[in-house]
Amino acid sequence: MRSKGIQVKLEKAEKMRRFLSKGDLIRRDLRIRKDKGFIYIPIKKSSESLTSYNIIESDFEKIEKKPKSYRDIIQIPDRIKQGLPTSYDIIGDIALIKLQENLLEYKKEIGDALIKINKNIKTVCLIKPVKGELRTRDIKIIAGENRTKTIHKEYGLKFNIDISKAYFSPRLASERKRVADLVKPGEIIVDMFAGVAPFSIIIAKYAQPNIIYAFDKNKIAVDCALKNIKMNNFLDKIEVINTDAEKVNEVFSKKRIKANRIIMNLPFSAHLFFKYALKIADDFCVIHYYDILTEDEIGVRMEELTRIAEYNKTSLTEFNIKKIKTYAPREFYIGIDITAKRMPM
Ligand code: SAM
Repeated sequence: MRSKGIQVKLEKAEKMRRFLSKGDLIRRDLRIRKDKGFIYIPIKKSSESLTSYNIIESDFEKIEKKPKSYRDIIQIPDRIKQGLPTSYDIIGDIALIKLQENLLEYKKEIGDALIKINKNIKTVCLIKPVKGELRTRDIKIIAGENRTKTIHKEYGLKFNIDISKAYFSPRLASERKRVADLVKPGEIIVDMFAGVAPFSIIIAKYAQPNIIYAFDKNKIAVDCALKNIKMNNFLDKIEVINTDAEKVNEVFSKKRIKANRIIMNLPFSAHLFFKYALKIADDFCVIHYYDILTEDEIGVRMEELTRIAEYNKTSLTEFNIKKIKTYAPREFYIGIDITAKRMPM
């Protein structure tokens, strides 16, 4: 493409490039060219500051911009493009995307564009929010390979996941690592709603707990958890128990042990299980409690937990609240680190 440019000797080119760059005079859409001891720098315009230099008119190669997002390459009407989601989750090599009603007729184009732009994505699934007691989702494959099983990597660990049969969120990765970093050597830990066991496995890898008990009611999640524990070599550190978290106390009474740290990742319902957690808590115990709440509901929920604790002869001495992600407009995925102390008899 024809453009004005500056011709400069090779040895002076870098100085010239910096000078032009400072004045915002370089054309970024054209490639700087080298020829027989000279450098040719495409410029936007000739200005007074350049009169003493050799301004030329020459051909420059156009720099093709690499598309950054699937939105840059998708072929759908412009008015529809505006509503395309800017974010989506990736679990292993499967992308999970939520679409508004008016985008559904373009789901194939959206899926294909995602696969085209990201070579690590092999399947694209249309998802609805997680639902039901077992927190699974309705999933529809819209592009790529016809499968819902994948291997996800997180903090150097591998997880077998069937996204249609067990819950997993890659967005909790740094939260899991944060919790692992808080664990003190020798702790007895309970992961009350363990799913495919990402919290348990990351703790086993990055801390030195005595043992972790991973409970889950979903048989398929538990089978996946076991595979993951084996695959990452933590069979000696994590025991998986396929039962309702209501029964944690039965298991702990038999073993005659108490927990130093309890993870309660069951948003919307964790408060219903708080009394069971307190029953297995040691005199001093940290509870990582997760919920989905609006700003106003956070205080109400903490009061409720405090009442449950008092009824169970426990005082909650510290609440460390963290907004982990936005769940819906004005609703947040909240993590609360709660310090629970047994009241003296
Ligand atoms: N902690 C995991 C994670 O971070 O990926 C999974 C969390 S998921 C939100 C909640 C899990 O709790 C699901 O795997 C579900 O099967 C399990 N669950 C639901 N109700 C339960 C109950 N009453 N007892 C034990 N597990 C339960």
